[in-house]
Amino acid sequence: MNAMKMDTATIDAKLAAFRARCSASGLRITPQRQEVYREMVRACDHPSAEMLHKRIVRRMPAVTLDTVYRTLGTLEAMGFVERVGAAGNSARYEANLTPHHHFVCKHCGDILDVFPGHFEPSGFARDLPKGCQLHSARVDMRGLCPKCARP
Ligand SMILES: [Zn+2]
Repeated sequence: MNAMKMDTATIDAKLAAFRARCSASGLRITPQRQEVYREMVRACDHPSAEMLHKRIVRRMPAVTLDTVYRTLGTLEAMGFVERVGAAGNSARYEANLTPHHHFVCKHCGDILDVFPGHFEPSGFARDLPKGCQLHSARVDMRGLCPKCARP
């Protein structure tokens, strides 16, 4: 339903790019940082820091929720992950930076990716006030996911 799971080669390539950027910007490449990013790349459910932490402690019991929060902040500042319009109270994140929209289930909070079809960003430009330059556009749709819509 969500984006396809990524293969190991793609994940490794993304991690290598991350390590290269860390080195270039003088940021220490810690196992924790790599693990948070790896888990973000693998995730297709737009996890919150809490959701990520639960997955990471299984392999790295010493990683704290605070470390996950701080690492997500670092990754966001570096442009490796984006914050997704929060469905509930906690911010959700994703590492898939190809342009797409989101469908948020009002009942279970699941966030599904919707890839542009009818919603090409160029279509939005027409409706903008005169003089605006559009650089990106994202639609957050709300409703019930297939699981919750089932009677
Ligand atoms: Zn997404």
